[in-house]
Amino acid sequence: MPPERLAPEQVERYQAHLTLPGFGRAGQRRLLGARVLVIGVGGLGCPVAEYLTAAGIGCIGLVDDDIVDGTNLQRQTLYGEADRGRPKVDAAGERLAAMNVALRIETHRVRVTASNVRDLVRGQDVVIDGSDNFPTRYVVNDACVLEKVALVSGSLYQYEGQVTVIRPPATPCYRCLFPSATQDQPPCREVGVLGPLAGIVGTILAAETIKLLVSGDTALMGRLLLVDSQAMTFRTVQLRSDPGCPLCGSSPSILEPTAVTADRAPAR
Ligand SMILES: [Zn+2]
Repeated sequence: MPPERLAPEQVERYQAHLTLPGFGRAGQRRLLGARVLVIGVGGLGCPVAEYLTAAGIGCIGLVDDDIVDGTNLQRQTLYGEADRGRPKVDAAGERLAAMNVALRIETHRVRVTASNVRDLVRGQDVVIDGSDNFPTRYVVNDACVLEKVALVSGSLYQYEGQVTVIRPPATPCYRCLFPSATQDQPPCREVGVLGPLAGIVGTILAAETIKLLVSGDTALMGRLLLVDSQAMTFRTVQLRSDPGCPLCGSSPSILEPTAVTADRAPAR
């Protein structure tokens, strides 16, 4: 629940939001009362969680079953040398708690599966998918559609990134856009990714989440943002729902989160 009024230290900390047109105290109170779940605390999840923490999201959940390794440090800015070998959710949780002690940081050291995803997603105001594999993307999409939770989704590939906001029936879902996972995406350390691109795309995910929480709407609902960090261009394309979508279409056949296996097993 949003607090009834802001304490003096909150007025100081969030002053730049309070003076922002269309934001104000009401907007900040909504952030302080919000629950947001960040799935994957990697290249995208780190900047997302960092900016959401600074912005005063009341409860931030972190989901990741991975440990910090040396290949992460090129772009996953919540981690340092001393974190090698530690669970990501522990290292990130500590860092974030130190940044803003008034917030609640909940950590879930689990791999997201069809059987646990609905419980993770239920009751959240926004879920952010910064995961690195198709099987997770599908089950997170399914759970968000079934639980009617807005999903802010991002991905990275080499010099390119994508962002969209999913909230059927106003927007298509991930299954409308990608009916089948023909090939799983290899991990960043194999295909390469420009380090700062994770920050560019991750902070866009955080910005979309904050605007969604404050106003209930945001620019990338039903639109796909394509970021090309080589040409340094940003363009958006309008997305269309599939009326025959098995999840969000007119006669759905998917009634529970359902695992989709790609041709290639996910490597992490
Ligand atoms: Zn759909």
